[in-house]
Amino acid sequence: MTRVYPGQFTYQGLPAKVYFGQGAVAQLAEVVAALGCKRALLLSTSVQQAQLIPLKRLLGAAAVGEFCEAAMHTPVDITERAVAVAVSVGADCLVSVGGGSTIGLGKAIALRTDLPQVAVPTTYAGSEMTPILGQTDAGRKTTQRTLKVLPETVIYDVDLTLSLPPSIAATSGLNAIAHAVEALYARDGNPIVSLLAEEGIRSLARALPGIVEQPGDIGFRTEALYGAWLCGSVLGSAGMALHHKLCHTLGGSFDLPHAETHAVILPHATHYNSSAAPDAMARLSRALDVVAHPAGALYDLAARLGAPRTLHSLGLPRAALERAADLAVQSPYWNPRPVERDAVLALLVAAWNGDRPPSG
Ligand code: NAD
Repeated sequence: MTRVYPGQFTYQGLPAKVYFGQGAVAQLAEVVAALGCKRALLLSTSVQQAQLIPLKRLLGAAAVGEFCEAAMHTPVDITERAVAVAVSVGADCLVSVGGGSTIGLGKAIALRTDLPQVAVPTTYAGSEMTPILGQTDAGRKTTQRTLKVLPETVIYDVDLTLSLPPSIAATSGLNAIAHAVEALYARDGNPIVSLLAEEGIRSLARALPGIVEQPGDIGFRTEALYGAWLCGSVLGSAGMALHHKLCHTLGGSFDLPHAETHAVILPHATHYNSSAAPDAMARLSRALDVVAHPAGALYDLAARLGAPRTLHSLGLPRAALERAADLAVQSPYWNPRPVERDAVLALLVAAWNGDRPPSG
């Protein structure tokens, strides 16, 4: 067999410590102490407030307060209120328990206060592994990359994901797969990132149908969480392309829901790039266990999971597609295939209709 050796590349690892496994959150008090901290502010959403109770018990006197108003897209007014709470209770660290919304709130507070963060993810969105923060102010979303927001420690405990409804597990898992698909063809991609991305996609593609069929199965939930970690870490290490640009445009300017939008756009963005990124498509096919045409396989996966497959069903009017295409081609992210307005509009029309991407 001919061996192909990697050429020259640069890999930037990120400085986070990760605890993984069932029951891993039992180490929370030691993790906080290891950061040199004694006064934790716990963060979550109102939906997940009850999940904080056992964690507060673990922390004992080191749990000095909680703030359970995290919201999608990290609104600045909520962050400002949370910072005021952190100051008033004298917090010296943050413990964020939840999905990308709660972890985003922790990052936004850290940006303003430099408080160290312990992230305890309960979805598959992957934000805990990235130095990226998106924030909204007066309806405008801006995104920045800075190590100031990267959580110092991440605890992946599968037990905390068991309550994640299968429908959210499905869309959040497709969101994670999207990070890895774009990492496979990223301009700053490299063999290490590709290895992690391929394994992350494989794990999630295998586990998500199992979660939908047997939501209480620890094996499937564990494999999905492992995949989510890998997919989050490649989002932290490599750039994003057309898929993420379209999702940011649709979320930021048309208020579409985050994970569902990723689920709908992913097969179409993959098809758009398929001829320009043959190596990435070969890896993606291998991860999805198909011979070819991985864009169609992603569509079939979404269908099997019962995830949304049309922009129409997310409430986007047909008339908005022209403007969405205009916005997406303004200051585009780098992409393996040139980002052309008419082709992007055709992609959006297919995603609005929910057409299965053609083979080839
Ligand atoms: P989310 O955090 O908004 O969670 C969705 C809902 O599910 C919430 O009501 C939440 O409380 C609930 N939930 C989460 N885990 C649960 C559990 N185990 N049991 C019961 N309910 C649970 O959704 P998300 O998709 O994880 O995150 C989306 C947000 O994350 C967006 O704002 C997006 O921009 C951001 N994000 C950021 C990055 C990054 O790198 N900066 C990456 C991915 C996503």
